[in-house]
Amino acid sequence: MNDQSELERLRDDYEKQVFDLKQLLEVSKSLNSTLDYNILIDSILYTIMGQMKVLKAALYAKKGIDSTYFSLHRNYKGFDVERTVSYTLPEDAPALKLFAREYHPYTLDEIRSALGDLGGLDSMARLQPSLIIPLKAKGQINGIIILGDQIMGSGFTEGEREYVQNIAVLAAIAINNAFLFEMTTTDMMTKLRMKHYFYTVLMERMEQSSLSGRPLSVVMMDIDHFKKFNDTYGHSCGDVVLKQVAQLIQSHIRGNDVAARYGGEEFCLLLPDTDLSVAAKIAERIRQSVGATVIEYEGQKLNVFISLGAAQFDSSRDLSGKSLIDRADKALYRSKQEGRNRVSVSE
Ligand code: GH3
Ligand code: MG
Ligand code: MG
Repeated sequence: MNDQSELERLRDDYEKQVFDLKQLLEVSKSLNSTLDYNILIDSILYTIMGQMKVLKAALYAKKGIDSTYFSLHRNYKGFDVERTVSYTLPEDAPALKLFAREYHPYTLDEIRSALGDLGGLDSMARLQPSLIIPLKAKGQINGIIILGDQIMGSGFTEGEREYVQNIAVLAAIAINNAFLFEMTTTDMMTKLRMKHYFYTVLMERMEQSSLSGRPLSVVMMDIDHFKKFNDTYGHSCGDVVLKQVAQLIQSHIRGNDVAARYGGEEFCLLLPDTDLSVAAKIAERIRQSVGATVIEYEGQKLNVFISLGAAQFDSSRDLSGKSLIDRADKALYRSKQEGRNRVSVSE
């Protein structure tokens, strides 16, 4: 080989490396721009699909801080997921120990030859992943990405595997940050968001609504005569009631809505793209659903009722989030005054 072509090869190599590094920088910027867990996972999966030229990608992660297993996140792309299969992986599975010991991407065959079997990845193997990429942050495996076959080509090159591992390192840190953020903004007992998170999103949504002119509403809720559950059956009965009501509230809202625990036995909803009449309908549905549910506590059957107040954001009146919340709160107060177990709206 002459010197000229050797130089050209070197230059091509360096150009490719510079290109890859620039791409990684872009990936890093994009992954660090959101703390929203669902958006982040989409963004990680689409990034890797684009960079690795595959049509299928999925992520396994833990659902909560006290989770002892990883499960397939519902934002998976392209895989044929069977409804009857539980795609989970205990944190002490031999495959995970292998990932922690020797941190790099694996094929199923490589795992088999390292462990003698699939090391607990049996349900994952049904998805026929062509590459399994562990995610590691702060020295711990905090997720696993799996890829389907490449659109072209036969298997991943060494360079591609190295490159995807670099993306995995960035993804793992971003997931860790989003996970911590979710933990610190979520009320552990009810699994609803906390008040300070609610206010932060409320301010953002009010600004967007002022600009777009799209409606925005909030609903305040308070359990009726809640004290009597504590006084009659004890504090842990009150806790059971809180959890159940929170779950019912959560089951009535869409992905973009925010449900929060505002205080002790008070909850609130943030409903983007929702006007007052629709907000009142949602509130009414929640009221009926809570009222119709019998909550069991130590053999006792309890009927729980809630009062609600709804208000729609009005940019000329509501100069602060507090003003909007106050109006919903006044409507709630009217519901209490007028006999409880009802919905009132702020005109
Ligand atoms: P109203 O219909 O007027 O709303 O009456 P209420 O009894 O629901 O209202 P009140 O504000 O008098 O009582 C709320 C009670 O909620 C008082 C407080 O001890 C209790 N509480 C607040 N946080 C918790 C909690 O985390 N767990 C339990 N078990 N009780 C709580
Ligand atoms: Mg109260
Ligand atoms: Mg109450």
